[in-house]
Amino acid sequence: MAIVTEAMRRGSAARRCDVAVVGAGLPGLISASILARGGARVVLLDVARRPGGRLQTLAHQGFAIDVSPPLWESDGLVEALAAAGVAAPPLAPVVARRDVFAAVLEGGAVQGGVHPLPAPGTVPSPAVLEAVASLVGVKPRAWARIGEAAGELLAIDDRAEQEAAAGVASPRGTLGEWAASLSLEPAIASGLLRSAEVLGAWDGSRADARRVAHGLRRLAAGDATHVVPAENAVAGARGLIDALVDAAVEAGVEMRLGTRVLALEVDGGRLRGLVVQREELPFLATLEADRVVLAVPPRAARRILPALAPAPREAPPASGSMFGVAFGLGRAPWPQDAPPPPAVRLLGPPGARGKTAAPGTPSAPILLSAPQAHAPATAPPGKALLLAHVPLPGDGLDRGETKRVELLVRSAVLDLHPGVEIEWERSWLRAGEACDPFVLPASPEPLTAPAGVHVAGWGVRLARCVTSGPAAAAASAVAVAQAIASERDEGAERDASLGTPRRSG
Ligand SMILES: Cc1cc2nc3c(=O)[nH]c(=O)nc-3n(C[C@H](O)[C@H](O)[C@H](O)COP(=O)(O)OP(=O)(O)OC[C@H]3O[C@@H](n4cnc5c(N)ncnc54)[C@H](O)[C@@H]3O)c2cc1C
Repeated sequence: MAIVTEAMRRGSAARRCDVAVVGAGLPGLISASILARGGARVVLLDVARRPGGRLQTLAHQGFAIDVSPPLWESDGLVEALAAAGVAAPPLAPVVARRDVFAAVLEGGAVQGGVHPLPAPGTVPSPAVLEAVASLVGVKPRAWARIGEAAGELLAIDDRAEQEAAAGVASPRGTLGEWAASLSLEPAIASGLLRSAEVLGAWDGSRADARRVAHGLRRLAAGDATHVVPAENAVAGARGLIDALVDAAVEAGVEMRLGTRVLALEVDGGRLRGLVVQREELPFLATLEADRVVLAVPPRAARRILPALAPAPREAPPASGSMFGVAFGLGRAPWPQDAPPPPAVRLLGPPGARGKTAAPGTPSAPILLSAPQAHAPATAPPGKALLLAHVPLPGDGLDRGETKRVELLVRSAVLDLHPGVEIEWERSWLRAGEACDPFVLPASPEPLTAPAGVHVAGWGVRLARCVTSGPAAAAASAVAVAQAIASERDEGAERDASLGTPRRSG
């Protein structure tokens, strides 16, 4: 970072580049690295003073608190990071059936114990039946019928996979619409929707049917469906961002932090570059670029794009905020040398949706995790850390509501770990940043003008992508880098056949 600032002070920062990437979050870092590794001169700009965007880790009293999304889908993520030059990313696999359990929280108390996640259609062992009764609230007979309905849902996933392989975008629909189209009995339909919520959907009826099918298939197979930031020097998502920054710098990416991109510079409908401003300096500057990647959230992209370009469609319509609470524990509530307990998804009682939740009952699944399971360096020796991630609707700025949620999570911690000693508690709010991971963002409108501008990151959904969060952002970054690389190759071939020397400078 200091080197970049020094280079800019001396005026040695490049005034033109092949590709300018806006946003040094996960998608920006990935596309910048891939392009630079392919030989492009890349400048990566971010208004913030540190890279990482939404992926951040806070340091507090010797603990490392990861305020990033708690579970990341794994599909394609490791491959995207490898393409960006991070061959061994500090991520650990999460097998839902082993590492994530669920419990019903009502009136601030955990009802009926903690259960493994039941997958409809799996053999109803006594443990599964207990989980079904407590989490889904149906009888064994109904569970078998939910299994049949889930089997039909998996057939959609199969068709979607075939269509994706043939390059066709498969039709989208919600689980609620799909259940209604089959005229399922109300108890079976609500059990199926509830199964999606046990998997982590905020609202089963609004969940994308293909996403749920994908999740159920992976759960039944016992596959690792997610990853979490694992053991690294800073014990969290920041370790991954540091690895990506190292790879980008090594590939030759020039990073300009503390630099805001205000607009595209377009001349006669042709992209010329970017209008940028260093945060502490009043004047504007221009960075010439043949191509631009906007790896910023949709709202920021809209501000940068000129009026002539259709704006990317707003991402998830019902996005919400993520409220986090960290609990620093004086000693680990699990036996020494034993692995920490699995993460627990805390749900309201089955059938409560739509009714006014009783006090002390969550309205969306809360994830309570002990990050030491994968990143042991999150707490000083002998101590322990528990993190709760709580989705809230809207901007989550109602102080009374966040206080209530914090009390609810604390009572769940005390109920799950009796006698635990909470040394400190810290909460944070990522307003307007999270969205239901089972509600996929809409595909963006294709950008028709100006040519040379690509959009990556949150809010961009590829036709073949059934993941969300960082994995989806990474997939879109790889796709953008590949599209630009092939445009550059075509341009080079054209220049060669016309005998035109390649532009440099
Ligand atoms: C707690 C939490 C939960 C989440 N849950 C989900 C989820 O369930 N599902 C889901 O799909 N996603 C979720 N996300 C979002 C997910 O983390 C992102 O998809 C992923 O990290 C990539 O984000 P992004 O593409 O917006 O880039 P970001 O990480 O936001 O990076 C964008 C960067 O652009 C920079 N920038 C913005 N404007 C400008 C400008 N004008 N000039 C220069 N730089 C600029 C910003 O400073 C930032 O560094 C969650 C995020 C958080 C924090």
